[in-house]
Amino acid sequence: MDNPFEKALALIEQAAQIDPALGGEFLARMRVPDRDIRISISTRMDDGSTKIFEGYRVQYSNARGPYKGGVRYHPLADIDEVKTLALLMTLKCAVAGIPMGGGKGGISLEPEKLSKAELERVSRGWVRKLADVLGPAKDVPAPDINTTPEIMAWMNDEYMKLTGEKTGATFTGKPIEVGGSEGRGVATGLGGFYTFLGFREKLGLPGKCRIAIQGFGNVGANAAEIFSKHGHKVIAVSDSKGGVLAEGGLDIKELLEHKKKARSLAGFPGSKNITNEELLALECDVLIPAAFENVITEANADKVRAKAVLELANGPTAAEADEILQKKNIPVIPDILANSGGVTVSYFEWQQNLAGEHWSEAEVFEKLKKYMSTAAKDVLAKSREWKTTLRMGAIILALERIRAAM
Ligand code: NAD
Repeated sequence: MDNPFEKALALIEQAAQIDPALGGEFLARMRVPDRDIRISISTRMDDGSTKIFEGYRVQYSNARGPYKGGVRYHPLADIDEVKTLALLMTLKCAVAGIPMGGGKGGISLEPEKLSKAELERVSRGWVRKLADVLGPAKDVPAPDINTTPEIMAWMNDEYMKLTGEKTGATFTGKPIEVGGSEGRGVATGLGGFYTFLGFREKLGLPGKCRIAIQGFGNVGANAAEIFSKHGHKVIAVSDSKGGVLAEGGLDIKELLEHKKKARSLAGFPGSKNITNEELLALECDVLIPAAFENVITEANADKVRAKAVLELANGPTAAEADEILQKKNIPVIPDILANSGGVTVSYFEWQQNLAGEHWSEAEVFEKLKKYMSTAAKDVLAKSREWKTTLRMGAIILALERIRAAM
């Protein structure tokens, strides 16, 4: 079963086997998106020629509120991938307890092969084709892989010109100057930290944990800084080229400086170079995959020696690996809970735009903490109620909330 959408459906089917109220007509409804839209975007290139790009928007469910989810620019973006991510967004928003549904979009393109002007024209083209189905009360896109705050600003500008809409609440992840929220940059890493706080004692983890983080981009580097600022020892981090280990803890600020200069983590003074595979097998309290999907697999799950896994990447643990970790009694705090800080602050941005307000960073963080702690508590309670894993608890919680709204 290699189709990612079939794999995602298998999870909701498993939830329906545990809680029978989630089967039958409801399950049939959840197996298909409300709408999946494929568009062609005819775009003028800098040399005067015209090129057609294929674009997508999948609106999975708006039972709990407007569709919400990112737009991905990637040569391999296809409708099955976008459909899967739209279903996961539906579940994530429900777990986070925000009044939004789930969607996802994309354009099949290689951003590095386009000039900035071409990128702007194709982005605006995506909006022109989809404007009818977007809007603050309909569908609120956001950035995803290879889409930036600047692209959100172009898209938002195009939408407002086309429709006369004035709030700017149709796109989130915008630059602060055009209605973006404070705190969006660190939101996913910080939300992951608040989730961890909600579970630390319950999972029997020590007051000061030893942490290993795979990925040192937006999510991984912010998480590393936040955990170490709060007195935890980040003993290892990695990026696509490999990682570094220092049993006494890494100085994250200095490591960021080192990476900027050396363009690599390797060779950081006082640390030992390690591979990504070695990082996943380190003895530590919390292993945080924060790079990309399917990194903990059937082949390496048995080697994991962390006491718990906090999934900040989307889908980092393959289904077979999940079972192995469960047998080893290593709890996995699932992605749809642990990395929902990003979409929660996107929801705050939408709220601020609709109300014509701009909240301080402190206000954003305080609200984020409240949402993440509540979601962590709810997931734990649900997994205990059904005597199942935290992942299944989160999926059941999400589906029950969606079903109630329907
Ligand atoms: P990013 O591009 O900023 O960083 C990705 C990091 O992963 C980089 O350090 C990169 O070097 C590393 N990486 C790439 N290939 C690797 C490999 N083979 N082995 C080890 N490391 C590798 O991306 P990001 O925004 O930090 O996102 C990371 C993950 O978090 C993704 O799964 C993303 O879907 C998920 N996520 C991100 C957000 C967000 O707000 N940015 C929200 C929810 C989920």
